[in-house]
Amino acid sequence: MSTLESAAGGGTGASPFAGQYICAVAGLRMTPGATGPVFEQDVWDFKDGEGFPRSMPGDRKIFDFRKIHNPIWQSVAKEYVVAMMAPEHEAVRHLAHAYRIPRMVWTCASRLEYLQGWFNWLTEQGVTSLAAVDQRTCEAFLRCRTFLEVKKSKEEGEPGQHETVETDEEEVEASSGYRLLSVLIPQEVANYSELFTHDRCRAGFRPWGGASAYSVIGSPKRQGNKTQPAREELLQPLLHDCLFLIQVLAPEALALRDKIEREFVPDRKDGSKRGVRSVARERQAALEQVLRRHIAEDRPFIEVERRAQGARKRWGWDETHPLGRVSIIAILREAGIHATAARTVRSSAKGGILSPGGLLEPLKPLLEEAIHLVGTTPPWGRNAPLVPRADGRGDVPWTLPIHRRGLDVVLDRIRTACLIVIALVSGMRRCELIELPRDCQLPHEGTSGRIRYRLKSKLIKGQGYDRTVWDEWVVAEEAFHAAGIAHYIAGEEASHLFSATLDFDECLKRLRRFTNGPEGARLGLTPIPDDLLNLRMLRRTLAVEIAHRPGGLLAAKIQLKHLSVATTEGYANRPGGAQAKFLAEIGEEEQKRNLTLTLQAFRDYQNGRWPAGPGARELLTFFRSVEDELGELQVATPVIKHSDQEVITLLGRRAGALHLGVANYCWFLDPDKALCLKLAKTKDRSRPLAGMCDSARCPQATHHPCHRPVWAASAANSRVFIGKIGRGQKTERARLQVEADRAEAIVAGIDAAQTADHGGRRGPDH
Ligand code: SF4
Repeated sequence: MSTLESAAGGGTGASPFAGQYICAVAGLRMTPGATGPVFEQDVWDFKDGEGFPRSMPGDRKIFDFRKIHNPIWQSVAKEYVVAMMAPEHEAVRHLAHAYRIPRMVWTCASRLEYLQGWFNWLTEQGVTSLAAVDQRTCEAFLRCRTFLEVKKSKEEGEPGQHETVETDEEEVEASSGYRLLSVLIPQEVANYSELFTHDRCRAGFRPWGGASAYSVIGSPKRQGNKTQPAREELLQPLLHDCLFLIQVLAPEALALRDKIEREFVPDRKDGSKRGVRSVARERQAALEQVLRRHIAEDRPFIEVERRAQGARKRWGWDETHPLGRVSIIAILREAGIHATAARTVRSSAKGGILSPGGLLEPLKPLLEEAIHLVGTTPPWGRNAPLVPRADGRGDVPWTLPIHRRGLDVVLDRIRTACLIVIALVSGMRRCELIELPRDCQLPHEGTSGRIRYRLKSKLIKGQGYDRTVWDEWVVAEEAFHAAGIAHYIAGEEASHLFSATLDFDECLKRLRRFTNGPEGARLGLTPIPDDLLNLRMLRRTLAVEIAHRPGGLLAAKIQLKHLSVATTEGYANRPGGAQAKFLAEIGEEEQKRNLTLTLQAFRDYQNGRWPAGPGARELLTFFRSVEDELGELQVATPVIKHSDQEVITLLGRRAGALHLGVANYCWFLDPDKALCLKLAKTKDRSRPLAGMCDSARCPQATHHPCHRPVWAASAANSRVFIGKIGRGQKTERARLQVEADRAEAIVAGIDAAQTADHGGRRGPDH
């Protein structure tokens, strides 16, 4: 406990939280029998708390106030943290600038870390009381936190064998989050100052006049998502390999694991001595029989694992000798020799390979001959079933002979593949993936032949400590199946699919080692490029893909449209859930996409590449009006070079109406003109029905050069079908003829709009 003396700016008396249990004040549940920390303690241990997210590291549950050098401010820090946790406390609720929503333990742990930085910096500057803190002090602190000295590192050496070498320190700008908290912490200390018992800021002092921390650091509240999506060249092999591991390798690997457990675990668990018999007089004969049986059946002996080979080497065995690799214990066991005798081999192995009791010594020549004839291999996966190679070039055994440890490695790689597929196909974040329980697969839901696949994950954010709220994700079948495989790999005793300490970087590194190594080559897997990749990038990739390519492919095997439908349904099903946040990210991407495409269409128009289709005339009229407005701006401010941003502003509303069809742009400005809505007679007129789009006739549809390949392929396919159907199928022939004619007319329209003179309109200067 700290002994405190009140500083100059402090209040008097005891703290309003004196003697109180923090968990009781904050409403944090503890395990039965635990009480949690008391306010006066210098270290608060929340390890017995319940309701924390699994992803929360253990060190975040320890609040060590002793790290604050000034003992008076240790007390201030405690009061600040309790006030954040319990805004309803009678001593807190009257504070004008206090937060009204309780902050969780993990948020307070982060705040305490920054608070410690602020207080210790003040101590270094010779400040001993908060009353001495003024605006200049706060600004100096922010300046210190804006640029940081960091050690640089670089890779040296040959590709694949490079090592990381640290170089000199260099100054880098701190992240906006770091700077933001460097403003927020002094502001919050001032906001809660009235509460503090032993020290306070000057009455009425509000750093930066109470301005928002975002505006102080010059960063808009939302800067958009800066995470880069994964490159297509990375995404394709990654997803292709992961799906192969899950769909082809996993069933075989799990079947082998079950077989091993069936054959060996019961023996170990119940301690029975099945197959054990006396070794007295018969053992030599039994061993000889075993050796001869191996030769007769041409059956290799069991090879010891590489680790055991290393141990033998340390014991002085000749590693080049064939006996150095063979499992003596396996031979003894096969001969039915008592397990105790077999263990003796291990414990007395230093004496020589065949020394224990001279058991195999007389048979050494026969043993050497047998090993020479049949060799040694790992015990499992001999004659493994064939599976099709991932590259389609024939069939291969799903595994080469393998040790149990090797099988665990394969299962671990498959688990990583499951993680990647669930993340990439559903958009889940790390914390949501970690919260997936082992039984996360919910029963299928479905009507009229459409199945809805659902996973459940615990909702953490905004839920407090005292209740478990299950969030529901509607996902594509691939993610659901991957969760099922991860469930079996996790085993009966696991509570969740993935470890709470999941290290994605390490998992990916190991997966790459597998897919890019000899085993991956044998299975026909495509090497995964060495790009930077993390779970945030996977989520962003999915959002961008869904936003930009409604009819395209995410990777070779997953239809993006199918993903998009599942994701959207997930939102509709549970609009307040975590999937809704992901859909909001997709919405942001769609807005960006629409602006980019509209700007591109406008630039095309300026360069003489006009749109075609029934809505082209109306779009051209709009583009002309934008051009006129830009012309007026040019006249008004001739010295200013006008940027894309001004054009984007003028195109903004039109871009908001853009919906992407597979073969057209839909400018959904007027529901009364929407042909699809007329045909469907639907009551919901808020959005077009892309599934019923007839872009050749709808006045809101335009065709652009990017749509030409779709229509050209459609025309060619129709012609091929017409050539194949019999003369008797007149109705079908006529229907295909109409389709082919229509597609060809659209292609001709697109070509004409690209090549026509347009009355001299050519280039942006017109
Ligand atoms: S018919 Fe096609 S272009 Fe017209 S409103 Fe419907 S979706 Fe849009």
